[in-house]
Amino acid sequence: MSIAIPTSNRQFYKILNDEDLLSQLLREQNLIQRHDQHKCHCGSLMTGGSRKKRLKGGTIKTYPTMRCVNRDCRNQINARKNTFFSYTDVLGRPNCKLDISTIFEMIWLWCQEIPASRIAALVQVSQPTVVDWLNFLREVCQEAFNDATQMGGVGKIVQID
Ligand SMILES: [Zn+2]
Repeated sequence: MSIAIPTSNRQFYKILNDEDLLSQLLREQNLIQRHDQHKCHCGSLMTGGSRKKRLKGGTIKTYPTMRCVNRDCRNQINARKNTFFSYTDVLGRPNCKLDISTIFEMIWLWCQEIPASRIAALVQVSQPTVVDWLNFLREVCQEAFNDATQMGGVGKIVQID
């Protein structure tokens, strides 16, 4: 069963606080790599998985991954590699220090038109980092808007086969 895109805070935070639901939603929306659309370099199929990592403070984070089904290979790739979530800043530094749920929450709050200073306080990330991400989000939206214009105009339905 697929997950509906949340339209209320309650739905959103239910998903955000459940690592399995969050991974599923991100996969379905093609925001992280889908194992069923990816092959390992060895030629084998990949399966969806997760990797746990202990952070300095002792908290354990779970990352969505893709794992090779070939037992001799066992290659594991971070599912956010080469996606929106692996965005690097202007200096080329990866912003991977933020976990996906933090980024996703920032996007949610940004969509509610909450100012950057308030987002920074709510997600407990420094304001420059939030501003950096919001600029990036605006660029992504602008590009999507430009693409839509080229593909037949904003407001028209574009059929993709
Ligand atoms: Zn492999």
